Amino acid sequence: MHLARFPRLHLAHLPTPLEPMPRLSKELGVEIWIKRDDCTGMSTGGNKTRKLEFLMAEAVEAGADMVMTQGATQTNHGRQTAAFAAKLGMACHILLEDRTGYTDANYTGNGNVLLDNLHGATTETFPGGTDMPAAMEKAAEAERANGKTVYVIPGGGSTPTGALGYVNCALELLGQANDRGLVIDLVVHATGSSGTQAGLVTGMSALNSGIPVLGIGTRAPQAKQEAMVYDLACRTAEKLGCPGVVHREHVVANTDYVGAGYGLPTESGLAAIRMFAELEGILLDPVYSGKGAAGLIDLARKGAFEGQRVVFLHTGGAAGLFGYDFALRG
Ligand SMILES: *Cc1c(COP(=O)(O)O)cnc(C)c1O
Repeated sequence: MHLARFPRLHLAHLPTPLEPMPRLSKELGVEIWIKRDDCTGMSTGGNKTRKLEFLMAEAVEAGADMVMTQGATQTNHGRQTAAFAAKLGMACHILLEDRTGYTDANYTGNGNVLLDNLHGATTETFPGGTDMPAAMEKAAEAERANGKTVYVIPGGGSTPTGALGYVNCALELLGQANDRGLVIDLVVHATGSSGTQAGLVTGMSALNSGIPVLGIGTRAPQAKQEAMVYDLACRTAEKLGCPGVVHREHVVANTDYVGAGYGLPTESGLAAIRMFAELEGILLDPVYSGKGAAGLIDLARKGAFEGQRVVFLHTGGAAGLFGYDFALRG
């Protein structure tokens, strides 16, 4: 496993801090640390920055003058892609799917949407249920017919190339733990389009770390989520040159905290946002990291982590708070 073999743009602020959370740990009776991937840089940071270091390097190699991606209205991935495109002098077009039906002006125009436009990206909205990959292919073809060299990034940047960013995170986290003599029993994080967990699991397995990873679902039911992560992890391991290192049982997702659906805030997710903000001064978001933390908190209270040292990987998303202010006010 030798990541230097892959093209990469060194634009992320790495390594991200690994910090204790003493007040939250005391409250929950479990030792919980946080890996600050909300601090990766590029337009307020988040987990997509690590993926985009590898994806955008491919775009540069392909001679792209335009990058295109898609996601929900408040996509963090779109915002971070727009920032990379700005930095690299590329055009950026983002296709936004209305997966929630919210008409609140902050949801449709503030938060990530505001930042997409600040970075000079163009956005186009589609009704929920649209075949977004097909819509994106169509849009890319139209731009190619105009003479553009378009690099298309699937939603969430979850390809084997993007997942290399989280293989890199596994390497970084294990290095920090080893340097400090800190034994990590479990890593917990929010999982969605699967690239984060696939990369982590592949990295942790390839390094033979023995550290399990638990993904807390934000969208799909458990069987589908685990199948997606496993499939991408296997393809990532192949790309890395270590096929077969990921076993099916390494992929574990708990999808009990999704609530009514993707992008729809839950009581437990909002409570988790308040708890992290009030006890640790850390900002989560209602779509991903808040639901991930809701799983962490509930499982800790149920005794699932007894005697363990748990690392919560903060995947970012706080820019979305300003698109969801209606859910948090009062
Ligand atoms: C995209 C995202 C996730 C999920 O990561 P995947 O790699 O898509 O599974 C988690 N948290 C935040 C804040 C995100 O933007």
